Amino acid sequence: MICVRNSSFIIHNRTGDPVIILLEYPSKLIEDAVNEVSKLPGIGKKTALRLVLHLLKRDEEQTETLAQSLTAMRTKVKYCRKCHNLSDNDLCTICASMKRDQSLICVVEDTRDVLAIENTAQYKGLYHVLGGIISPVEGIGPSDLQIDSLMTRLRGAESEQVREIILAISPTMEGDTTAFYLQKKLRPFNLKISTIARGVPIGGDLEYADEVTLGRSILSRIAYD
Ligand SMILES: [Zn+2]
Repeated sequence: MICVRNSSFIIHNRTGDPVIILLEYPSKLIEDAVNEVSKLPGIGKKTALRLVLHLLKRDEEQTETLAQSLTAMRTKVKYCRKCHNLSDNDLCTICASMKRDQSLICVVEDTRDVLAIENTAQYKGLYHVLGGIISPVEGIGPSDLQIDSLMTRLRGAESEQVREIILAISPTMEGDTTAFYLQKKLRPFNLKISTIARGVPIGGDLEYADEVTLGRSILSRIAYD
């Protein structure tokens, strides 16, 4: 039996053992591009080849613009020095805005959660991006996350302004562990500590919740006990 899998063929020999035959590319340059594109998550060799051939067919200028925007993004995007959100400048647009409520800091796992909450248009405070959650299985401990820098914010220039910390962390086992650890660290600051209401599915990721559910969750946040 012969079947096509990604860009290679699998042939079963007489004894039924699979023999992999690699597809010959017509160009080493195409092969290199396919190999690079297929390193992206969720993209196999077959999809990578389709994308590469599409890029080859498009206007040269369009493909060049794509390459330039990827290079610029990779070399110029940085982390906001205050909240660690992704930013083009030292301070992200949220931290730099005077329209945001400086008395609220919403603690989230990563930038995708900031985007998800911003899309609800229900929250006008500031953020703090942890850069992950505590996960003993993956060897991620508190010191690997931006937890100390949150404490530094609360002890520094923002100590006078901040009134409430909202823990908007996915309600998974690791998320709950992280929230528990944070509320213990935050206790000495005498701030109101809340979590978002559990309108989002238990065991789900914040970024996949719909805007209405996530918006309601942040409006009806509850005290962390
Ligand atoms: Zn920021």
